Amino acid sequence: MGINRCIEILKKTNLKITPKRRAIIRFFLENVRYFTPEEVWAALKIDFKHLGLPTIYRNLKEFENIGILVRVSRSDQQLYYATCRLGKRIKHHHFVCQKCGRVIGVEFCNFKSIAGDIEKKLNCKITSHFMQIEGLCSECKQREKMRKEFKK
Ligand SMILES: [Zn+2]
Ligand SMILES: [Zn+2]
Ligand SMILES: [Zn+2]
Repeated sequence: MGINRCIEILKKTNLKITPKRRAIIRFFLENVRYFTPEEVWAALKIDFKHLGLPTIYRNLKEFENIGILVRVSRSDQQLYYATCRLGKRIKHHHFVCQKCGRVIGVEFCNFKSIAGDIEKKLNCKITSHFMQIEGLCSECKQREKMRKEFKK
C-alpha cells in the first residue's frame, strides 16, 4: 500500500488529512517493520514539537480500524503496529519476521480443513480465527545462512 492508497482510504472514511496523519503514514511506509506507539512518537516529535503521545495512540488505533495499519502481537504484550501491503478488503493473515520486524500479508490459509474437526470435538460453531505466523523473512533467512557459512 502506497501513500496515495492510504490517503484515498482516509478520504473514504472521512478522516481529515492532517500533516500529522500524513507524517505517521509516511513513517510507516519508509520503515518497513513494526513499531510501538512510543517509537512512532519519538520519531515524529522531531518535526512536531507539541505532539502528544495520546494523539499517536488515537491515530494508530484509527488507522488500524480503517485498515491502513495492522496490530502485531508479541509475547511482551506491548502494542505494535505495522503497514501491510494487503488491504482490509482481502482476508489474510500476517507473517512477522522475528529478526527485522517486517510484516508480510499471507493470503494462503487452510484453516477450513481443520475447522470441522474442532467443531466436532468441542461441539462448537467457529465464526472466525486469528493467526500470526512468525519466523525469519527471506532476507533474514539468507543473511543467517551466510553468517553460518562465514563462521565455518
Ligand atoms: Zn495485512
Ligand atoms: Zn526479516
Ligand atoms: Zn485463515
